[in-house]
Amino acid sequence: MQQEKIPTIFIVGAGLGGLSLYHALIKNKDKKEFNVKIFERESSPTDRWQGYHIGLTNYGTQSLLNCIPSSIASNLPKAMPSPIPGVETHGINITDQVGNVLLAPPIKPYKDVYELAKISRGLSTIVTYRDRLRDVLLEGVPVQWNKKCVKYVETQEGVWVSFEDGSQEFCNILVGADGINSPIRKQKLPELQIFNYGITHVCADISVPKHLINKINKINGNILACKTLGTKGDSSFMISRFIPIEQEQNDKKDEPHYRVTLVYSYPSELNNVDVESDKVKVDDNDPASVIEHVKRLIRTLRPDCELTDLLLELWDLAPKTIPNGPIKFPFKTYNPVQRRMMQDIDPMSIKSWTSSRVVLLGDAAHAMSPVLGLGANNAIQDADKLSQALLKYTDNNISFIKEYEKEMLKRTSADVLKSRTVTFKSSTPIGPFGVFIRDSILKVMNVMINFYNFADSLIFKN
Ligand SMILES: Cc1cc2nc3c(=O)[nH]c(=O)nc-3n(C[C@H](O)[C@H](O)[C@H](O)COP(=O)(O)OP(=O)(O)OC[C@H]3O[C@@H](n4cnc5c(N)ncnc54)[C@H](O)[C@@H]3O)c2cc1C
Repeated sequence: MQQEKIPTIFIVGAGLGGLSLYHALIKNKDKKEFNVKIFERESSPTDRWQGYHIGLTNYGTQSLLNCIPSSIASNLPKAMPSPIPGVETHGINITDQVGNVLLAPPIKPYKDVYELAKISRGLSTIVTYRDRLRDVLLEGVPVQWNKKCVKYVETQEGVWVSFEDGSQEFCNILVGADGINSPIRKQKLPELQIFNYGITHVCADISVPKHLINKINKINGNILACKTLGTKGDSSFMISRFIPIEQEQNDKKDEPHYRVTLVYSYPSELNNVDVESDKVKVDDNDPASVIEHVKRLIRTLRPDCELTDLLLELWDLAPKTIPNGPIKFPFKTYNPVQRRMMQDIDPMSIKSWTSSRVVLLGDAAHAMSPVLGLGANNAIQDADKLSQALLKYTDNNISFIKEYEKEMLKRTSADVLKSRTVTFKSSTPIGPFGVFIRDSILKVMNVMINFYNFADSLIFKN
């Protein structure tokens, strides 16, 4: 009897989405065996900054736990330590420009990631160290580093994939998990366009001393994520864990420090207007100049108040030089602070997708504004759904890919557009009347959300 050939799957991109898919395919080996290879353009796990805190939702963590084996799951507390009761609340507050809370959606308490993953109604989140999650997911995965995919050629039987080093390899299914600038997407769906928001954002991971954390808590209580809305189209976002970090290079060793991600967003046209002096030059290769630029904007666009002073103090903690290699700062990796354009992949720019043996996952298919924190959650859900679809793999029929794409597009297009709407709403400059309307709407929403949640918990008791 002729033995069935084991099909080969290539995953291009070892980010959160590609790695989750790798684990899921290996985990499902007993149900359907594949020869899986994963390629990454970076030269090593520490090649590029993988930092900042992200919020993983109950849906994202459900999918993550579906994808990974128990040996990897046992390491998850390194990336997403369980909430510290009474010290940390894993939720978000939205405040006005002086720190008055406008919206504070209710939080369903949970003990750890397993309990979070069981929450089936509403959105709950765990603040996760993105870099450590990638490290945990890399464990035991034979990533082929320094393999930048440049193009592919599809045939009846499979796909020839070409790499920058001149090599070519053949697979039955090619998965593009290669991020927002995916060359695989550009070849597969050249009509699918990147949408530019005209908004710039600057992110920094910083190490914050306890006395400043106390000031943050004075405004937010112990809520870990806080967005403050400005009135000139700018907004600020802070997301923290209140777990002391090891100090490697800090002078004040006696005071505990905490890891905080800061984001400041503003209309991109403000990049061209120098608000204080036309002599100052902002250079994205010079983090100090970018940090000064952010501080100048905050000083100019924000009112004189305690919150503005706090934001300035926090931005002053952002690393101002680029080190030669990945160093402990005091986290494992280091991010040169740069201005970035806010973008998404516009689901409306294409009428329909053509299904083939080349399939997309995560940001490669549906990069979205980070405002609602849904990008990584969707990338991991894609990995889960695609691994399920691949259980139906046959050599001559790709209807399982169509099914995956149908579900993925429905789920993610809605999230891309929702994230875009919220981004624009929070980035429109407003006058005093606009501030009144904005604050009133958010306060009414706050009452409604809290009431709905209360009624929901009475009815469904979960
Ligand atoms: C400031 C900020 C905050 C965010 N906060 C959240 C949050 O709270 N919650 C959330 O869910 N999401 C959040 N996100 C989004 C989230 O980080 C991304 O959606 C997620 O990392 C996407 O995962 P991915 O695997 O699809 O892509 P990526 O993580 O981009 O991985 C793609 C990989 O492909 C590799 N690659 C690229 N091109 C090639 C090539 N040609 N050949 C080989 N390899 C290649 C890249 O090097 C990379 O390793 C945030 C994003 C930002 C910027």
